[in-house]
Amino acid sequence: MINFHPNMQQLDLFVAGNVEPSVALIFSAHIDMCHKCRQKCQKLQQIQSIEALSENIRVATDLSSMLHGITALPQSQDVVVKPSQYKPLELDGKKFELPRTLKRYVQHTGNWSRLVGKLWQAPVDLGYMGKANFIYMENGGKVPEHTHKGTELTLVIDGQYSDGLADYDCGDFTLLDGQHKHQPHSDVDGGCLVFTIVDKPLHFTAGIARLLNPFSHLFF
Ligand SMILES: [Zn+2]
Repeated sequence: MINFHPNMQQLDLFVAGNVEPSVALIFSAHIDMCHKCRQKCQKLQQIQSIEALSENIRVATDLSSMLHGITALPQSQDVVVKPSQYKPLELDGKKFELPRTLKRYVQHTGNWSRLVGKLWQAPVDLGYMGKANFIYMENGGKVPEHTHKGTELTLVIDGQYSDGLADYDCGDFTLLDGQHKHQPHSDVDGGCLVFTIVDKPLHFTAGIARLLNPFSHLFF
């Protein structure tokens, strides 16, 4: 069950197109998985269109030409690829079902690398939006305790994990920053796959993992 969602203010900015493209991507992927946020976004969209329309009517001298302008706007730039054309995300013969928004990025996902602590990482090239990672924690897998120099956006794609702050399930979204110190780990059969975007390297804080700091770009 999904317990962690973007907040109302974040969704409002998202619907208005006022969030970073990479943030919009992870919000869209969450919304693919979350009917509650889908409904909230539809409502926000209606409110924003009514506000925009009444503003436009106030300034438009010719409503019909304005409406023509709206309908003549270019459609979404997305290249339509049939679902069957998407490759599934695979690791060691295990196939993962991705939210619709992320399916197209499988072809931009690099090879899996096995890291210490029963962790796997595959980098995702988001083009002009930067980069992201799929991180897979095997059952018993652990990311060393760390804090963040920037922000860390995470969406659970499959399985469950905990990080000392909370327990997360499939579809849960979190945004953490320098105020949060945590240690993600998965202790469930089948482990946990997350999609994560960090805008600055992680900072490992505890024990021998501090020695990992020179390699913190691995997660970046
Ligand atoms: Zn939600």
